[in-house]
Amino acid sequence: MAYVIKNGILNDNSNPVRQIRSRNTGGAFPAPPGIVVIHFTAGGSAASSANWFASRENTNSSAHVVVDRDGSIIQCVNFNEVAWHAGKSSWRGLAGLNKHSIGIEIANWGALRGGANGWYNAAGQKVDNVVMAVHRNGNPDGSRTPIGWEAYPAAQFEAVVALVRALREVYPIAEIVGHDDIAPVRKSDPGPAFDMVRFRQRALGGRDQNGANVGVVRSPGGLNLRSGPGTNFAVVQLLADGSKVMPMGVNGSWIEVTTLDAAGKPSKTGWVHSHYLDLD
Ligand SMILES: [Zn+2]
Repeated sequence: MAYVIKNGILNDNSNPVRQIRSRNTGGAFPAPPGIVVIHFTAGGSAASSANWFASRENTNSSAHVVVDRDGSIIQCVNFNEVAWHAGKSSWRGLAGLNKHSIGIEIANWGALRGGANGWYNAAGQKVDNVVMAVHRNGNPDGSRTPIGWEAYPAAQFEAVVALVRALREVYPIAEIVGHDDIAPVRKSDPGPAFDMVRFRQRALGGRDQNGANVGVVRSPGGLNLRSGPGTNFAVVQLLADGSKVMPMGVNGSWIEVTTLDAAGKPSKTGWVHSHYLDLD
């Protein structure tokens, strides 16, 4: 995968990816989007979801892209335009996330139903690639014990990583959230089978597949490592200019990091302001 975005269109090795356009858009973004929202389709193939976004019967939902289980991507809405994926939503003071975010749908059935010796999707088909987990907001059926969720294949996960890295080249993407973060009562996607911590590390913090996932402190006076994401949190340690850290997560303009000792081994965990961290 060598994704590049030109004029809002995703290109793979200089060719536009498959386009199945939805008319459900809100026009140009009022300001460049800084957030990526991750969804699952709760459905079968990516094409079936993209066709639904493009269908005449559907007048109220869309997403910028749908990523299939094999990692192939279908684009439904130009990245320069608002797509209708978030619904009623809020995140750290922002409401109505559609105006602020890129929506990525991942082909995945989500929560499965237990049945005769296995787990079944909404179409009644047995799913073999299952993660047993409980959703942190409670499972969709209200239970709080582990149930089956369709796993995300590695090829699909890595395609989404590559896509977000390409988006970061064009848009000021600083945060990646799940639909279940911005609409926690209504939504369970992408759910517990999606390793969001690792995804944020790979998509926001990583250099490339071969390089180390390391950020470098760029501040002559050093950089405060704090116990939380804000200057009101206690200073844990002063990190010297040039110190190496491993990004773990994001919260606004703050990045959760693990410090690395001289031997490159993980040491302390805390938060630093992203302005003083060179992640690329
Ligand atoms: Zn969603």
